[in-house]
Amino acid sequence: MNSRPAVPADTLPLEPGFRLNYGYGTDRGLRRELNEDSFIASDPVFAVADGMGGHEAGEIASGTCVRTLAAVPQLSAGVRSATAVDLQACLLDADSRIRAATGARAGTTLSGVVVVEQMGVPYWLVMNIGDSRTYRLSQGEFSQVSVDHSEVQELVDSGEITPEQAAVHPRRHVVTRALGTGDETEADFWLLPIQEGDRVMVCSDGLNGELGDEHLFRILSTVAHPQDAVDALIQAALRSGGRDNVTVIVIDAQNVFNDAGTATTAPRQGHAEDTLPRSQLVSADEGNPRSEGNTDGRS
Ligand code: MN
Repeated sequence: MNSRPAVPADTLPLEPGFRLNYGYGTDRGLRRELNEDSFIASDPVFAVADGMGGHEAGEIASGTCVRTLAAVPQLSAGVRSATAVDLQACLLDADSRIRAATGARAGTTLSGVVVVEQMGVPYWLVMNIGDSRTYRLSQGEFSQVSVDHSEVQELVDSGEITPEQAAVHPRRHVVTRALGTGDETEADFWLLPIQEGDRVMVCSDGLNGELGDEHLFRILSTVAHPQDAVDALIQAALRSGGRDNVTVIVIDAQNVFNDAGTATTAPRQGHAEDTLPRSQLVSADEGNPRSEGNTDGRS
């Protein structure tokens, strides 16, 4: 009794009332003593912050950043009205708070998406400062949306090295913009219409530093449930060496009328977190169970 036209699902725009399914996870990795990554996965905001600074300062930086986001009224549950101007103001606030808390000894990246609606049309509002990343798998095409603020990205942009050389370059961890430290605190923003079936992945460099885009695409395009995809990605990063903290969020968007029979509508739980709701904020400086210490000052 479905009165909707028989159009293939992948050509449908997303409609108001669409559903987001998401999963998330973080791991200290195999080499670092601390987990200085923090994240927020709480509709409408999904973001990863990778703290740097060592001696627990990196944890304070990334934790302060996600808690500042969590307190913004335009990012409250059910609100879809955030703008890039709102977000940049919030990030400047986070920048000041981090400087005050750490004496500008520590900084953090931030990358992720806020789900917004304009004139009834849903968009991914992608934000980025530093070298954490936001990728999108849309209509079968996988691409990195955010552009790293890093020394090696500048070398790639100027044609001095290839992306393949950047991946193994000794200075690949050096960021050129961050919150809490340095003079460059301006984020970049992208506004992308959400398509039916879109999958967005947000990660810290502990994921993409271990796995190339082909590997990320293979997992994201074959593992159906977002939490399973997150778990598979983190396990793959650990198998590849786990040299850095790794944090991953995967968000799927689909129309509700397409949902039945293709996805579980009940929340799925990952790890040992069965009693937690899907909405989650994990800051490295409070309550991240695997947090312990990175002293080399890299993100
Ligand atoms: Mn990192």
